[in-house]
Amino acid sequence: SDDGTESAPQPLPSISPSSSDHWWSDTTPYVSKKKIHSWFQLPNGNWELGKIISTSGTESDITLPDGKVLKVKAEGLVPANPDILDGVDDLMQLSYLNEPSVLYNLQYRYNRNMIYTKAGPVLVAINPFKKVPLYGNDYIKGYKNKAMESPHVYAITDTAIREMIRDEVNQSIIISGESGAGKTETAKIAMQYLAALGGGSGIEYEILKTNPILEAFGNAKTLRNDNSSRFGKLIEIHFSETGKISGANIQTFLLEKSRVVQCNEGERSYHIFYQLCAGAPPSLREKLNLQSAEEYRYLRQSNCFSITGVNDGEEFRIVMEALDVVHISKENQENVFAMLAAVLWLGNISFTVIDNENHVQPVEDEGLFNVAKLIGCDIEDLKLTLSTRKMKVGNDIIVQKLTLSQAIDARDALAKSIYASLFDWLVEQINNSLAVGKKRTGRSISILDIYGFESFERNSFEQFCINYANERLQQHFNRHLFKLEQEEYIQDGIDWTKVEFEDNQDCLNLFEKKPLGLLSLLDEESTFPNGTDLTFANKLRQHLNSNSCFQGERGKAFAVCHYAGEVTYDTTGFLEKNRDLLHLDSIQLLSSCTCHLPKQFAAHMLLQSEKPVVGPLHKSGGADSQKLSVATKFKGQLFQLMQRLESTTPHFIRCIKPNNFQSPGSYEQGLVLQQLRCCGVLEVVRISRSGFPTRMSHQKFARRYGFLLLENVASQDPLSVSVAILHQFSILPEMYQVGYTKLFFRTGQIGVLEDTRNRT
Ligand code: ATP
Ligand code: MG
Repeated sequence: SDDGTESAPQPLPSISPSSSDHWWSDTTPYVSKKKIHSWFQLPNGNWELGKIISTSGTESDITLPDGKVLKVKAEGLVPANPDILDGVDDLMQLSYLNEPSVLYNLQYRYNRNMIYTKAGPVLVAINPFKKVPLYGNDYIKGYKNKAMESPHVYAITDTAIREMIRDEVNQSIIISGESGAGKTETAKIAMQYLAALGGGSGIEYEILKTNPILEAFGNAKTLRNDNSSRFGKLIEIHFSETGKISGANIQTFLLEKSRVVQCNEGERSYHIFYQLCAGAPPSLREKLNLQSAEEYRYLRQSNCFSITGVNDGEEFRIVMEALDVVHISKENQENVFAMLAAVLWLGNISFTVIDNENHVQPVEDEGLFNVAKLIGCDIEDLKLTLSTRKMKVGNDIIVQKLTLSQAIDARDALAKSIYASLFDWLVEQINNSLAVGKKRTGRSISILDIYGFESFERNSFEQFCINYANERLQQHFNRHLFKLEQEEYIQDGIDWTKVEFEDNQDCLNLFEKKPLGLLSLLDEESTFPNGTDLTFANKLRQHLNSNSCFQGERGKAFAVCHYAGEVTYDTTGFLEKNRDLLHLDSIQLLSSCTCHLPKQFAAHMLLQSEKPVVGPLHKSGGADSQKLSVATKFKGQLFQLMQRLESTTPHFIRCIKPNNFQSPGSYEQGLVLQQLRCCGVLEVVRISRSGFPTRMSHQKFARRYGFLLLENVASQDPLSVSVAILHQFSILPEMYQVGYTKLFFRTGQIGVLEDTRNRT
C-alpha cells in the first residue's frame, strides 16, 4: 500500500534549514531504540561511541567498547552511523549528519594518513604536521590516469584542468583556513600537479621557484606557524591550447609591514633577514657591512632568531638560486640585499635629545653611515629627514623639528616603506619573468592562498582587513556552492523549489555602505584634522549602533558579528595604519639616492599619491599629498579579485589545523569543530542537507536493497525495484526525489535501510 503501515520503521524527521541553525544538535527518537550505536558527550566535550542497551524514562544505559556500562541522559544521545560508513570519502555519504559523526569520520581518516575528505563539493584537508606518503610522481600519475580516486589536492587540481579544457572556462582553486592550517603547502601541492601535467616549456620550473622567494620575503615565524604567510596571494597560471603552461602572473595583497619594525616576543621578522645574516657569502657581508642577526635592533627585539629544523644559511642559498631562475640579475640581487641591509641598519639608528623641547638628532654612528652608503644618499640629507619635517604653510615652507617619538616613527616608516616597496618590486620582476607571451589563450587556473579569518584576544587593523577579506570570500563561497548544488537537481530533472540562502550580505554592508559603513567612516576620520582612534570609535557607535552586525563597546573598541563569529576590535592605531603616510621628506630622500632601487621606490610612491591635498593641512600633517587609504585600496583589490574569481569555475579547499602545537598525530575535536564551523564547512553540509545530499543510481539502489523486498515486483528494472523498496519502507514522498539517473535522498533516509539490511 502507499500508506505507511504500522510495522514499517518510522521515517526520520528531517529538519528544515530554517528550523534549526544547529543540525549537529539534532537527535532523533530513533536513537533511543535498543542496540543502536550512538554518540554521547563526555564532560570534557569529546564524543564517545557507545551502544544503547536500554532506555527508561530520560536515561539510557550504554555499553562502551571496553565493556563498561554507563548511564547517560537519553536526550544527549546522537545517532552514530552504521559501520559500513566508517571513514567515507565524502561527508555527504553519512546517513546521520551530526557533529560527532563528522568529527569521527575525519579523525578515522586522519589516523590512517587520509588527510583529505570531501564535504560535498569542498575538499577538507587536515594538516598532518609530518610527511605523509601521498605525493610525488607515482601519485601524480595515479590521479592523472584516474587510477586513484580518493579525495586529494591532486584530484581537485585534475578536475580543474579537465574542466578548463572541456568547458574552455578559467578555473580557480580557493584555499582557506586558519593560520597554520596548511594553505600555503596545499597551494604548492596544487602547483606541483599543474607543473607536472602542464610542464614542458620550462616555465613551470620558474613558477615553482617563486615559492621560496615569496616565502622568504613574505613569510615569518609567528606563534601559530613557523612559516606564516603575512600577505595574500593569487597566482594565475596560463595554459596554451595544448594544455601546456605558457606563463603566470602573481598578485599579492596587503603585506603586513609593521612586522619589519616590530614583532612580538617569540616571533620573527621576515625570513629573508635571518637568511641574509646567516648565509651571505664573505664578499657580500663585507659590502653590506653585515653583522649577525643579534646585532640588529629590529631582529633582536623579539628575542627569537632561529626556527627548529630550519637552516637559514642554507635557505639563503636556495633563495639566491631561485632568484637566478626567475631572471633577477646578480647586480639586482645585490641591490635587493643592500636594501635589506639598509632596513636593518635603519633600525639601529638612535637619537640624542638636543634641546629642552625634546627635539632630537640622529647619532652619527655606524647605523647612520651604513644606511647612507647602502641607499646612496647624502648623510646630511638623511639626518635632516630623520629629524625634521618640512611643512607648507600658505605659500611658505617651514621646517619643524621632530621629537624623539616622531623621529622614531619617521625612521620606522622609512624602513617599512623600503621593505614594502622592495616586496612589490620583486613581485613585479617575477611577473615580468613569468609573463605570458603576446598570444594569450585566455585559459588559466588561479590559486588563491589568502590569510584566514583571525580572532585573537586583541584584534587590530590587520585583523579588521583580513576578516573583511574573508567575509567577501565567504560570500563567494556560499553563492557558488549553493548554485552548483541546485544545478545538479535541475540537470537530473527533479522537482526542486529553489532554496534561498541566508547570506552574509548584512555584514558586508556594514563594512562597505557609503557614507555610513565601517570603511567610509574610517576613511573620513583618517582625513579629519582632529580625528583620533577614540573619536573614530565614538563615531562608529553614533552611526552604526542600530546595525545588527555591529556592537559598540566601551572606549576604543567595537565588535563585528562575522559569519565566523563575533570579533572585538581595538581601534588603537587604526587611523595611522589606514593613512600609512610616508612623509614627503622621506620620499624626496629616496628620490635623491644614487642607487636605482630607492629611486624607483620613490617614483612609485609619488605615482600613488598624485592627488594634492586641498585645504588646510592636518596637525600630524606634513603630508603634502594624499594617497588612497590602506582600507580603500584593499577594498578595491578585493573587488577586483572577486570579479576575477567570478569569471572562473571555483574549486574550494578548506584547510584544518588539528592542534595548536604544530604536532603530528594529535587531533583535538573541539578545535577541529570550531574551524569546521568558522570556515563554513558545516554550513555547506547544512545547505546540502536541506536538499538531497544522498544520491544513488537506480541500479545501485536496487542491487543493494532489492533483497529486502517482501513482495515480488512485476518489473525487474532498477527503477521499479527502487520505487517498490521506497514504498515498502514508507519513505515519505518529501524525503526523496526520483531523478533521470539517480535517486536523491534527504539526510538520514538511507540509514534506516542500511540498519535493516544489516540486521537481516
Ligand atoms: P598561514 O595562514 O599562517 O600562512 P598556512 O595555512 O599557509 O598558514 P602552512 O604554512 O601551509 O599554513 O602550513 C604550516 C605547516 O604545516 C607547514 O610548514 C608544514 O610543516 C605543515 N604542513 C601543512 N600542510 C602539510 C602537508 N600536506 N604535509 C605535511 N606537512 C604539512
Ligand atoms: Mg601560508
